Amino acid sequence: MIDTAPPLVEMLQVNKHFGTLHVLRDIDLTVARGEVVVVIGPSGSGKSTLCRAINRLEPIDSGTIRVDGVSLPAEGKELARLRADVGMVFQSFNLFAHKSVLDNVTLGPIQVHRMPKAEAESKARALLERVGVADQANKMPAQLSGGQQQRVAIARALAMDPKVMLFDEPTSALDPEMISEVLDVMRELAASGMTMIVVTHEMGFAKASANRVVFMDHGQIVEQAVPAEFFANPRSDRARDFLGKIL
Ligand code: ADP
Ligand code: MG
Repeated sequence: MIDTAPPLVEMLQVNKHFGTLHVLRDIDLTVARGEVVVVIGPSGSGKSTLCRAINRLEPIDSGTIRVDGVSLPAEGKELARLRADVGMVFQSFNLFAHKSVLDNVTLGPIQVHRMPKAEAESKARALLERVGVADQANKMPAQLSGGQQQRVAIARALAMDPKVMLFDEPTSALDPEMISEVLDVMRELAASGMTMIVVTHEMGFAKASANRVVFMDHGQIVEQAVPAEFFANPRSDRARDFLGKIL
């Protein structure tokens, strides 16, 4: 059967400046349903801005961004729907500090999707189970380790039934021993068919779970390839240089 559905994420000729700084330059990026794309590149190359633009946390100057066929900029109900479609996990876990773990996960479904509280709680407990922190449901975020907090943040994003999950350096703020517990959850999510855009320097994750690696530098997508090809044979000097520094 031919899949006639639009790609989940489409960026066409997207440009973005911060003042005189050109942070996204003619970005063309298409992500298919179920695809896992890892974005790598030096600090300041525009990776976070790219993620934020997809979620419309950052307005763009020109170009088109579509999520499941809905074009940006969207407003009102359209914007709320689009934000619910795009789950985002940040480097700094961004949990609501004054709400319990369970409430962190139920809040979105109750407020945005008008889900009954009991249903939201049973869903939240199932998700907390899935990310391995079911026993922490009644604690406050500060009582959890960084790795546990990040797994709660993933559960919170999943509670909205997003069509695509964006991860912006989700393990960069974690102590080394906690990195693998978060990557394990992300690996499971990738294997379950979730569409994912992941900014990370964890090349093990990229090799194991990515369908494609996108290398950015100075606001441009310099090259993209399947992981085996990219790591074995980067085509650009910039990518070779970058890999030499991190591997
Ligand atoms: P990366 O995530 O790859 O490190 P970013 O997308 O965070 O890169 O940043 C790209 C460039 O834009 C950097 O030079 C950064 O300093 C700049 N930048 C990011 N956010 C802002 C902002 N809100 N105002 C001004 N400059 C910014
Ligand atoms: Mg960044």
